[in-house]
Amino acid sequence: MQEFRRSVYCGQIDKLFLNKEIFLAGWVDNIRDHGGLIFIDLRDRTGIMQLVINPEKNNELAEKAKTIRAEFVISVRGKVINRTKENINENLKTGKFELNVLDLSIVSKSKPLPYQLDDADNVDDELRLKYRYLDLRREKMQKMLKIRCDAVFAVREYLIKKEFYEIETPILSKSTPEGARDFLVPSRLQHGEFYALPQSPQIYKQLLMASGVDKYFQIAKCFRDEDFRANRQPEFSQIDLEMSFVQETDVQDICEGVLNSVWEKIFNKTLKLPLPRLSYDEVFFKFGTDKPDMRFGLEINDFTNLFESTKLKFLKSVIDNGGKVGAICVPNKNFSRSDLDKWVKFATDRLKAKGLLWIGFAEDGSALSSIAKFLPTNFFLEARKIITSLTPADTIFLVADKYESAWRVLGRLRNEFAKKFDLISDNEFNMCWVTDFPLLEWDDEQKRYFAKHHPFTAPQHGWENLDPSKIKARAYDIVCNGEELGGGSIRIHDKKTQIKIFELLGISTKEAKEKFGFLLQAHEFGFPPHGGIALGLDRLIMLITKANSIRDVIAFPKMQSGICPMINTPSVVSSKQLKDLHLKII
Ligand code: ASP
Repeated sequence: MQEFRRSVYCGQIDKLFLNKEIFLAGWVDNIRDHGGLIFIDLRDRTGIMQLVINPEKNNELAEKAKTIRAEFVISVRGKVINRTKENINENLKTGKFELNVLDLSIVSKSKPLPYQLDDADNVDDELRLKYRYLDLRREKMQKMLKIRCDAVFAVREYLIKKEFYEIETPILSKSTPEGARDFLVPSRLQHGEFYALPQSPQIYKQLLMASGVDKYFQIAKCFRDEDFRANRQPEFSQIDLEMSFVQETDVQDICEGVLNSVWEKIFNKTLKLPLPRLSYDEVFFKFGTDKPDMRFGLEINDFTNLFESTKLKFLKSVIDNGGKVGAICVPNKNFSRSDLDKWVKFATDRLKAKGLLWIGFAEDGSALSSIAKFLPTNFFLEARKIITSLTPADTIFLVADKYESAWRVLGRLRNEFAKKFDLISDNEFNMCWVTDFPLLEWDDEQKRYFAKHHPFTAPQHGWENLDPSKIKARAYDIVCNGEELGGGSIRIHDKKTQIKIFELLGISTKEAKEKFGFLLQAHEFGFPPHGGIALGLDRLIMLITKANSIRDVIAFPKMQSGICPMINTPSVVSSKQLKDLHLKII
């Protein structure tokens, strides 16, 4: 037999192959010597096929098989036969068949693995990543790689049909405006100068619009040198797109089409479109966040009016200073006194709330609460005017503070309640658009405005006459199950507006010219109106595969510390390399 040959994948064997001679090749998942017969589970990326060797029929083959261990790479020729009834394995795609081996060669041997592949979920992350090529052999990881590939294919197919051009943009780039720290690459030829790896292709895609490309997309690698947070990677992928002569809804429609094509490909299902479009103000008011998880209720209510003439000093002073009292009603749940104390502690310790008040009710509607004597006697009826479904079996939780602080706490509390009380359905994808974001965000520490999206986002009509804090952006995010899947905006396409927005951001004309001069220059040569969006590909795949960690959807991810224990990077370089780059390590 020649060393290896393959005529079909293991997982593809069905009754059409019965009694046919085939060639298989792959890894030994396990080998069992049953005295009479030797069984090998042969694995490739499609599944497992059982091989059987009978020493009585071919002793030489059996002796060779006995030297085989798990994870050896072997290649076999054999005939597909039916398994005997008692050996049928219904859990296996190919469980009705086995391969009667006629010839076998050992292509590559394997040492015992550093950990058992079927135990990988219990193994330390560093070990898994050190041997990532072993980790990726697992069925779960192979499935993920296939889903990721299918999703990207669906995206490409859809966008190319919609007349988008796929265009690559440079990796050796310059600082871009997403606001994270750049990864820098020293230039050898330009002494003392550095490239920056792109945080996103934002500027290039806008310049592609200036180039007349009209519709661009790219599966883009983006790099942000941020301190590691859960489910962030220093390099990640975006489905990045940009279009000319469009309004917000044009970009949103295309984005919905992209997601729908992915859903059709992966789940064989369509999404219910169009997705709801909710304004930032409305979403924040109801959910205390711009990434609402709308798989469950527990919306926030404004109870400020009910406390307007309260005798409770703390509440009074919040309200007198323009703050608000927000409420979440947890329906029909029995809280013991110690449960309530735990929630208060959670809100103050973990959510940094100034306090959490709770109000339960007796059957007749009278309030049971540590602040009961400060509540109006008709509190239940008053509250029911706001929460019309309120019953005495419900419990109300209140937070009082500046509007945004109180609502943020309530938003996080809402998510915690939902988790704790099992209100979230795992099989739902609840997507929506959040629109009309504020253009700017005030930073109390630095005492200046930052762009909530990025500085090229167009302000909404009439912005010139507004206080900067009131200006709305032509920006939109797409949110699914409480996670931001992507965000984009209509861009500024005239120089005058761009310079004014830079001014609001505290970027002087000089600085703007230094950083983005090429963009401002492009504004002077006929720049079409344009807009776009970027969807986080890794997050999308996490959502689809229900992965808990972003590392589970990237073939070769980095650890929290930024290192890759497999290829051992980052690593030191030779002094010659440093010298070439005119660098010295201090
Ligand atoms: N470049 C933006 C980002 O990475 C997305 C966009 O505005 O299209 O967040």
